[in-house]
Amino acid sequence: MIQTFPFPSVRGRLKSNVPLGPRTWFRCGGAADWLFVPEDEEDLAHFLTHCSPDMPRTVLGACSNVIIRDGGIEGTVIRLAGGFASIEQDQNGLIAGSAALDVTVAEKAASLGLGGLEFLAGIPGSLGGAVAMNAGAYGSEMVDCLDWIEGLDPTGQTLRIQARDLHMSYRHSELPAGFIVTRLRLKATPEDPALIRQHISGIRASREASQPLRARTGGSTFRNPEGYKAWSLIDQAGCRGLQIGNAQISEKHCNFMLNLGHARSTDLEILGETVRKKVFDQSGILLQWEIKRLGRPATETASTFLSQD
Ligand SMILES: Cc1cc2nc3c(=O)[nH]c(=O)nc-3n(C[C@H](O)[C@H](O)[C@H](O)COP(=O)(O)OP(=O)(O)OC[C@H]3O[C@@H](n4cnc5c(N)ncnc54)[C@H](O)[C@@H]3O)c2cc1C
Repeated sequence: MIQTFPFPSVRGRLKSNVPLGPRTWFRCGGAADWLFVPEDEEDLAHFLTHCSPDMPRTVLGACSNVIIRDGGIEGTVIRLAGGFASIEQDQNGLIAGSAALDVTVAEKAASLGLGGLEFLAGIPGSLGGAVAMNAGAYGSEMVDCLDWIEGLDPTGQTLRIQARDLHMSYRHSELPAGFIVTRLRLKATPEDPALIRQHISGIRASREASQPLRARTGGSTFRNPEGYKAWSLIDQAGCRGLQIGNAQISEKHCNFMLNLGHARSTDLEILGETVRKKVFDQSGILLQWEIKRLGRPATETASTFLSQD
């Protein structure tokens, strides 16, 4: 049963029992008890300041690196949208809202002749998710270009944090607990727009050749262990193409899981756990999930089988 809280009045959209599956790249998962899409930063701050501190809150970006479990997400899911998607030039850099899509940011930088952000052209998330995950590709990652972030703490206070204080490392940022990134500054370098576009085309062609980009997927499932490639360990353990229900390890890139049509999030997670076990049995290496698994498992059976890390 959905727990109700005394919510403050808001200008944005606030609804109960909203299915999240259609909003995720995997196209599966349960509902948010509550979904709040704030109109702008002031609306979000008002909500955070006035809602119960007991209410669990989860912030989501473009949902390209998450599995939402089939039992849905307790409390309120906060999703930033149009009011947080501006992109503006700022000397040799950009100041952008955290809901701006990485791809749009890369295009905008190219049109302004600002180089160094081309790697974002191949990452299908939002800037907020890119900060949280220290997203990266083709030799560049967020830590290389991030100047500062701004956002709200759980009490609705605005904070600016310098990138160095996030201690970003491989697919990891130390965001303060419950912090919601709303805006950030990216550093860039003036370059010939034609060369930037050529670089972006090269990245796109390379991804097209190696990744199942038009599938229902969540990108890299597991982190690369120090000195190893997760895809290679998965391949050596015989898991390329492995299928459980409608969930499958991609034949094209075996660190990507696919929803072939009607997979549940439970199927994806059980497939992932099966791969971890097979890789461990074969190599002695225990893969760690890169994809964030959020929410409640649908059944007791599922919850006892699934790992918590
Ligand atoms: C086809 C495909 C290819 C991919 N390729 C790459 C790649 O090359 N490199 C790479 O690094 N990743 C890749 N990914 C994974 C994914 O795109 C990135 O991790 C992306 O940065 C996630 O952003 P998002 O907005 O979708 O975040 P979500 O998936 O919505 O969330 C991810 C995490 O970020 C947190 N978060 C989101 N927004 C905010 C915010 N505003 N404030 C605080 N926390 C927030 C969420 O709580 C969650 O913990 C790929 C995914 C797909 C589907």
